[in-house]
Amino acid sequence: MKIGIDAGGTLIKIAIEEDGQLTFKKQPSAEIEEVAAWLTTLPEARVALTGGKATFLQSLIPHDAFQSIEFDATFRGIQSFLEQLNISLDHYVFANVGTGTSIHFADGDNQLRAGGTGAGGGMIQGLSYLLTELTDFNEVTERALSGDRDKIDLKVKHIYKGDKTPIPGDLTAANFGNVLHNMHDMTFTADDKLAAVMGIVGETVTTISIHAAREFKTEHVVYIGSSFLNNALLREVVMDYTVLRGFKPYFIENGEYSGAVGTMRLM
Ligand code: ADP
Repeated sequence: MKIGIDAGGTLIKIAIEEDGQLTFKKQPSAEIEEVAAWLTTLPEARVALTGGKATFLQSLIPHDAFQSIEFDATFRGIQSFLEQLNISLDHYVFANVGTGTSIHFADGDNQLRAGGTGAGGGMIQGLSYLLTELTDFNEVTERALSGDRDKIDLKVKHIYKGDKTPIPGDLTAANFGNVLHNMHDMTFTADDKLAAVMGIVGETVTTISIHAAREFKTEHVVYIGSSFLNNALLREVVMDYTVLRGFKPYFIENGEYSGAVGTMRLM
């Protein structure tokens, strides 16, 4: 049995390979001791680790685990998912939208970090709490779907008021920039605020990703990370904005396990 583990800032992603069959599970990083206790019951397993909490997890388990650099593991995992999906890309940019967001250039052989942003899954959780006091990720993502961003976000067409716009009118001119215009005659529900949170995170991640793609002269942008889990609105914002800007977005099923699968493949 082989086990690949990406111990991240928020979630521990686990890939298990047995008899050629891959299965996945995840656990909050706060429960790292439980993951260690589970591994301790599997002394024969070959274990590969990666992620910010890999060294700490190694200190809790009896295995002499293989460790790889997170960015290389993630790249290796993405390559393996793309192969399975029969998607062949010579060059692409990938954005890993985890607790924070890391953006990378990739060709057939290597990845190179292009940059990142603090807008990501941690921002979704923290800002959502500050605005609505909700802490459950799935409740946040589901309620965001019923929200109306238009009351909160200022679009280009709102500024141009019917005049011809120099860029598409539906582009966001200022995230949260419509609040003071609407504060006297509209109420902002929790759902509206959550939708605006997905908007600012999705648009920030996309903007940085497509700038990297342009610099790298590729049109392909692969998005992974647990922030997209059960989060149809974030996917929609990222997908629509990437397409609007003339690039091709890809979302990989189970892509959040790229680091876990990759470190196992590198072992
Ligand atoms: P990391 O490796 O930094 O932990 P992930 O790719 O696992 O990154 O993404 C973490 C983000 O995933 C969280 O910040 C949150 O937005 C989102 N998320 C998705 N599902 C959950 C969940 N069940 N519990 C907490 N966060 C979740």
